Amino acid sequence: MTSALAPKTKPIYFDPDGLMDRARGAYLGLAVGDALGATVEFMTPREIAHTHGQHKDITGGGWLNLKPGQVTDDTEMSLALGRAILFGGGFHDKTIAEAFSVWLKSKPVDVGHTVRRGIVRFRAAGTTQAPEDEYDAGNGAVMRALPVALSTLGAPHEDVTRAAKLQAHVTHNAPLADLGLVAVVRMVQRALLNSGGAYRDMIAIAHALHEESGKYDFTKKAQINPSGFLPETLRAVFQAFARTDGFEAALIDVVNRGGDADTTGAILGFIVGALHGAKAIPRRWLSALEVDVRNACEDQALQLLELSPLLSGVPVRFIPNSATP
Ligand SMILES: [Mg+2]
Repeated sequence: MTSALAPKTKPIYFDPDGLMDRARGAYLGLAVGDALGATVEFMTPREIAHTHGQHKDITGGGWLNLKPGQVTDDTEMSLALGRAILFGGGFHDKTIAEAFSVWLKSKPVDVGHTVRRGIVRFRAAGTTQAPEDEYDAGNGAVMRALPVALSTLGAPHEDVTRAAKLQAHVTHNAPLADLGLVAVVRMVQRALLNSGGAYRDMIAIAHALHEESGKYDFTKKAQINPSGFLPETLRAVFQAFARTDGFEAALIDVVNRGGDADTTGAILGFIVGALHGAKAIPRRWLSALEVDVRNACEDQALQLLELSPLLSGVPVRFIPNSATP
């Protein structure tokens, strides 16, 4: 059976300069959204309005007491996953799990519960797949999914899905979350390939996800204070995406909803960054980012894209569990 989320087969045309700009925009958008949202994570819209008016600048602070421009686990885990994909020249579950483990050793400023449990399990048992659990439908595997979208661009739907789930299941293994994960990756890839007409198609992918599971219905009540439960996270992300146009307006909308604002900011940041490109990101946000992070994001965006079937002409490489890359 073909999934409603599978794209229709059609020829791919793209302009290389535009593609590079959108890839950089996606990765920088992730970091910018993470850094912007982290300041107001766990606050309600009312508390945000009381403290910041409309929150629209990268100022650090928040419950993690961040430096201005500091990012959190959303960006750091994406960079760890990206390094693992580049190191292996593809998808090798042990390399990915090891990269997450190395990241956890670096004493990150924030770690999600399900992520920590998955890495601890890998360290203890060597297993790279969490047992399936419907309660693991958190947003932790989607917030770090951008490297999958970049490095599998142009691949058949089955390979994109396999790669997305392979990295997700190291820590999160819930069919409900897999649905949302695949939809987000497809939205990003649709935007990367060609921004013309992409917005409408991306909204259609969000509606197709809602048809697959009513939990993702973003068409009704406004989602404020979204939790880390992926359907809540994506309802806020899709609502902000659907009612704004432009990079800045979308991110300001979503982070001012409060709740898991660094992750809604990160996910919507890479979605709208892929659509509008790096040139659409406000300069005050880009210059606020820590320089190391900004450089790492830009480098990985281009390196992961070069690995993609679209640019390399080589299918996505899946390295067997028993092998070393
Ligand atoms: Mg975070």
